[in-house]
Amino acid sequence: MLNINTALCKGCSYCIKFCPKKILELGAERNKHGHFFPLITNEAECIACAMCATICPEGAIEITKEEKDNG
Ligand code: SF4
Ligand code: SF4
Repeated sequence: MLNINTALCKGCSYCIKFCPKKILELGAERNKHGHFFPLITNEAECIACAMCATICPEGAIEITKEEKDNG
């Protein structure tokens, strides 16, 4: 799953631009530094490619593996 540390975000939108699935977008809320930060619009579509985490100059995004419940 995708973890966005919104407090670190500078609102550069690189993650949004580089997400191959186009599932990130800037929200309407600002963080405490006054920057808009991204939200994930459809997490089910995320392929965990980690492009967003790699491209983020602030290291604000973390991809964590989640065990799928197949039951
Ligand atoms: S891990 Fe890949 S698919 Fe998922 S939000 Fe980040 S860039 Fe998009
Ligand atoms: S790349 Fe990082 S700093 Fe830029 S908008 Fe995305 S989360 Fe924020």
